[in-house]
Amino acid sequence: MYDIIIIGGGPAGLTAGLYAGRSKLKTLIIEKAVAGGQISGTAFVENYPGSIPEATGMGLSERMLEQVEEFCDIKYEDVKEVELEGKVKKVVTDGGEYEAKVIIISSGATHRKLDVPGEDEFANRGVSYCATCDGPFYTGLDIYVVGGGDSALEEASYLTRFGRSVTIIHRRDEFRASGVVVDNIKKNDKIKLELDSVVKEIKGSKESEVLVVENVKTGEIKELKSDDKSPIGVFIFIGYIPQTEIFEGKIEMNHGYILTDEDMKTNVEGVFAIGDTREKKVRQMVTAAGDGCIAAVLANRYLEGVNW
Ligand code: NAP
Repeated sequence: MYDIIIIGGGPAGLTAGLYAGRSKLKTLIIEKAVAGGQISGTAFVENYPGSIPEATGMGLSERMLEQVEEFCDIKYEDVKEVELEGKVKKVVTDGGEYEAKVIIISSGATHRKLDVPGEDEFANRGVSYCATCDGPFYTGLDIYVVGGGDSALEEASYLTRFGRSVTIIHRRDEFRASGVVVDNIKKNDKIKLELDSVVKEIKGSKESEVLVVENVKTGEIKELKSDDKSPIGVFIFIGYIPQTEIFEGKIEMNHGYILTDEDMKTNVEGVFAIGDTREKKVRQMVTAAGDGCIAAVLANRYLEGVNW
């Protein structure tokens, strides 16, 4: 029997683990893939307080994990089912069954797909959702980045290290990304913009070679491709979808995001939700870590007998 099981090992879950473990609570973190979550696939993290300019997402994730491992059990398993009601909660994974008095949900979010023809067909053959992982494969080639938020623009900047050109395709003529990120894009000679445009199809033979895009204002359809018919890289950063399917019907949600109060408490006693899984306005690494701290501290109080 654990005191706390934390489902998900991104910045929110690892911070919760650090605080819970250091409070001597018997804590298990269950992560299905790589600790660090989305951050582990991010090129550089420049806005986490104290992070050095060259701090890679992977490097920060590894450091966070090292810090937590001393205090918590960590299992790399996929959670299949949860029982949240009652004093003893149960978590069933592909590796076993675990019980705890408190559950902290930090299962994060996964990348949203464009849902256009060719996207699945050319996955790992030109289509990618991770610049850090796949950028080097497109060295000397033309790269296209879809999206207009912080992820798209920051990763587009990073991809200019590899591509001979990087074109950002965005469905509006204004970016969602923050001001300083937009300024950096505008200053970068290697970056071209294809605004008011949506991708209709990704085409190619063995690898992706052509992007069919439509201008949403004029209705013009055109093909974007390399002059020398080389393969192209298509990097898609159009937001995220919360990974909360296994909690459906068991906890209050809004469009897949778990509802909490400012103490990270859900409507189910003994269950907290933190980070990108919960409904909130600001999704940053620093707010994820803040959520994790609050949940762990208040979980400790709950376990000491303070009313829910
Ligand atoms: P986001 O902020 O939700 O932006 C998604 C972008 O994709 C938007 O520009 C959106 O267009 C576009 N989009 C959405 N669906 C689309 C579709 N079907 N087809 C074409 N375009 C589509 O997502 P994000 O950039 O991944 O960021 C997620 C969160 O993490 C945000 O809160 C962001 O601030 C944060 N973040 C922060 C940092 C940082 O601070 N360093 C870095 C990365 C992410 P519209 O603008 O027209 O809606």
